[in-house]
Amino acid sequence: MNNEGISSRFYQQALELDANDPLKHKQELFQIPLGKIYLDGNSLGPLPFSAKIRAKQVVEEQWGEDLIESWNTHDWIDLPITVGNKVARLIGAEEGSVICCDSISVNLFKVLASALKLAEHKTTVLSQSDNFPTDLYMVEGLINLLNDSSAQQAYAFKRVSSADIERTIMEEADNIGVLLLTHVNYKTGDVFDMQRITKLAHAHDIIVIWDLAHSAGVLPLELQNWDLDFAVGCTYKYLNGGPGAPAFVYVAPKHLALLEQPLTGWMGHQQPFSFAPQYQKAQGIEQMLCGTPSIISMSILDAALDVFDDVNIKDIRKKSIGLNAFFQSYISEFLAHFGLNLTLGCNHSATDRGSQISILHKDAYAICQALISKKVIPDFRSPNVLRIGFSPLFLTYSDVYQAATILAEVLISKEYLRHEFQITNKVT
Ligand SMILES: *Cc1c(COP(=O)(O)O)cnc(C)c1O
Repeated sequence: MNNEGISSRFYQQALELDANDPLKHKQELFQIPLGKIYLDGNSLGPLPFSAKIRAKQVVEEQWGEDLIESWNTHDWIDLPITVGNKVARLIGAEEGSVICCDSISVNLFKVLASALKLAEHKTTVLSQSDNFPTDLYMVEGLINLLNDSSAQQAYAFKRVSSADIERTIMEEADNIGVLLLTHVNYKTGDVFDMQRITKLAHAHDIIVIWDLAHSAGVLPLELQNWDLDFAVGCTYKYLNGGPGAPAFVYVAPKHLALLEQPLTGWMGHQQPFSFAPQYQKAQGIEQMLCGTPSIISMSILDAALDVFDDVNIKDIRKKSIGLNAFFQSYISEFLAHFGLNLTLGCNHSATDRGSQISILHKDAYAICQALISKKVIPDFRSPNVLRIGFSPLFLTYSDVYQAATILAEVLISKEYLRHEFQITNKVT
């Protein structure tokens, strides 16, 4: 079969899959620039029209006209909880166990410090060495701070490869008090078995913190049923909350009573407007708040989450695997016809990874730039990963077909070697 034969067969398949897509009505809820194929919803989700309308409302009407009264009349004060509960539904968490605030980094500081207190004499934090850097940096910073100020016990940070996590839990459980893992690896897309590892850690008296940055909104999660302790996640990736949208934090209700998070700002107080001179934490999940919430951003996020009304995360996952597997089989056949093949930096089956595929190539950055010049938008992660994300709410199989065709052509022609694609931007 020649190359046209391969392409037309996959094209027909794409059309059929699109015609039978139960999520196809969701695409029109997003503003997608004409002619652009956006494969980076895993880094910054696109703009839902509901969010755009709310942005105008919150600025022009609420801030512009209603001013300070909006804290009550537009329920600004309850937004962290309202939005938290919306996120809770998407991650299988109990009502009142999730709150929206700050960034993942800041929320990690709060939960790490709280978890270490609960862990008492078990003073080692264990994490995967290929975790997202901010997760590792936040542990380092906290441990330095604790070791500088604590005369009684020394805290330690141990990092091992993802493959060695379970063995390390079993061998070093006496010292490990807290386990911090990211569910879907940001670079490879590989997924930990959250339920099994949480169970294993608990059997060894270890508190677990999960980072859901690349899982929330795209993978079925059951925080309550899987007995999680803590989780953090962001809302500007698959939840489409907009650049820098506030993150979320989950605390198992059973931990709320004893919890002592160190960023004791006034919004976490039991009665912020009593302006009492002594801190007294709120009893509920509000205790995770610190300062005044970013209302504009959070309002936009609140409206952006409307696109998840009436969808089942299981259907989202099904389409995510479908798009991912379709892309992989089409491009593999296309390239094989020209004697080329892809080196994957992830599990080879789409069912074993998150909503992305990672392609390893020494010219990954230049390939990414060449694709962007053709209006196909993936991203690059240092030093050699081309990361392609499949957000199921707005991507079609035809989009993925077209993107794969263009990537195959770029790889075959080697046009990424052109000088203009070698220049490194500040944000990659
Ligand atoms: C995107 C991402 C973050 C981002 O952290 P912020 O503090 O919200 O900027 C953290 N962890 C992981 C795993 C991520 O993918």
